[in-house]
Amino acid sequence: MNLTRIGFIGLGAMGFPMAQNLVKSGFELHVTAHRNRTPVEELKKAGAIEESQVAEIVANCQILISILPADREMESVLLSDDVLNRLTPDHILIEMTSGSPEMMKRVNVIYRERGVRVLDAPVSGGTIGAKRGTLTVMAGGEAEILEVCRPCLDVMAENIYLVGTVGAGKAIKAINQMLAGIHMLASAEAVALAEKLEIDKEILKQVIGKSSGASWMLLNKADTLINRDFAPGFKLSLMKKDIQIAVNEGAEIELPLASFALQNFADSETENGELDFSAVAKKVLS
Ligand code: NDP
Repeated sequence: MNLTRIGFIGLGAMGFPMAQNLVKSGFELHVTAHRNRTPVEELKKAGAIEESQVAEIVANCQILISILPADREMESVLLSDDVLNRLTPDHILIEMTSGSPEMMKRVNVIYRERGVRVLDAPVSGGTIGAKRGTLTVMAGGEAEILEVCRPCLDVMAENIYLVGTVGAGKAIKAINQMLAGIHMLASAEAVALAEKLEIDKEILKQVIGKSSGASWMLLNKADTLINRDFAPGFKLSLMKKDIQIAVNEGAEIELPLASFALQNFADSETENGELDFSAVAKKVLS
């Protein structure tokens, strides 16, 4: 069956361009405003249908997509009585938030009780990947459900990996974010030292890029760090939330670098939480 009616919840830095790509590709998109009306107005111009509330989105869609900030919003939105009362066994949930594996599994159990099929599908690739439709999806769930969802995922993503059962997507995303946070701190120190030693920034990227110290983060975020351009992007508060998930998941093992990274992002959050996560580098890039 061709599923063309999509409900989209979470029209932020990621969700808005993802939703734009869906509506441009011909999907019937149902949206509603939370606080900021701008993305809804823009999507309506492209053909999306505005609903009065999230429950109406659910009532009018076949596939419900959510990409919300964190567990708290997953719980308050996806597990609200209004939403749960509108779910039917015909619905599929594609849950794309970088939340915890526990919250994802909890949503799955409650949705399954109502016959709803669930795909855990967090993403990587940033706002540029969201705009270009080149995200990486880390899917947790059943292969048949992924296949049903694939036509709409293909519009948003270039790489789609089935990584395990529901919750495994959120788990591998947390591992990725743990690495990304650590690599950001390491990249900031590399740039700080290069500036102190008067190494040309293009030479730094070119030579390290072909050497054993290279990382995606240094190669892609060096300019941000050098220019002290901390406009988001991916908010520092969200990165702190992601590393916290990894540290919580690893509570019974030693994760000294992740714990150190978490402390740095937490220390920076009050002042820089709404800036790009690279703003954690302010401490070393004086
Ligand atoms: P944003 O803060 O930009 O967007 C969050 C969106 O959720 C906003 O549209 C907000 O609406 C909406 N929202 C918040 N609470 C509710 C609610 N109760 N009901 C309905 N809508 C709500 O976050 P991002 O888009 O950057 O991130 C979303 C998720 O994707 C996060 O889990 C993040 O970690 C992950 N992610 C982000 C990446 C990035 O580069 N930004 C990359 C990969 C993953 P409003 O603004 O109106 O309040």
